[in-house]
Amino acid sequence: MIESSEKKARLTMLLRSQAILSSSILSAIEAIPREKFIDRVLRNHAYENASLPIACGQTISQPYIVAKMTEALELNSRHVVLEIGTGSGYQASILSLLTRRVYTMERHRPLFIEARNRMAELKLTNIVMRLGDGFVGWPEAAPFDRIIITCQVDKLPETLIKQLKSDGILIAPVGSPGKEFLTKLTKKGDVIHTEKLISVRFVPMIPGIADA
Ligand code: SAH
Repeated sequence: MIESSEKKARLTMLLRSQAILSSSILSAIEAIPREKFIDRVLRNHAYENASLPIACGQTISQPYIVAKMTEALELNSRHVVLEIGTGSGYQASILSLLTRRVYTMERHRPLFIEARNRMAELKLTNIVMRLGDGFVGWPEAAPFDRIIITCQVDKLPETLIKQLKSDGILIAPVGSPGKEFLTKLTKKGDVIHTEKLISVRFVPMIPGIADA
């Protein structure tokens, strides 16, 4: 049985070889126990560079994609970030180590509850969670320095672009299902610039809160 610290070290070496060079992001990946975010039966796979199924037919993203999206956000320790799609809470936990506060929204109640329990257990006190529809965003806490959407959208939701500060960055998988590109939007005053990064695969963003 290989120790999880060794598996973690292998994973961060792999990410470095894939050009994830930020030592703060790699340290956050080493600090957050990914095995706690997935089902017990899959725990052996926690430090593989793979996406894995979680409850409600959703997925926890591949560590490389988590790292790549985090890197694209260009975070500093003063930023306030909004995440759409809490899922397991893994991405939010990584962000919470790198920035001031993370607001995160999920439409499935069981995922919301499980993620909230994990964050309490890990004592990540700068994460604020809401069961809600990401298409509405979080108007009372807006505007945000950064927004990350971790589910596929056909196009970037206007409501969320409005909730981004000037000089803000928004990252999302944009495109029709199966043909999505990680897209980076930057906002300078009223001027919006978008850039396609890499091809990705995400579960879709669905309007409304899921039925029990
Ligand atoms: N970031 C997650 C993985 C996201 S999977 C992690 O680190 O584990 C995408 C998540 O987005 C799913 O849990 C899905 O239920 C959620 N989602 C989809 N549409 C949504 C919406 N309109 N509002 C909030 N969450 C949504």
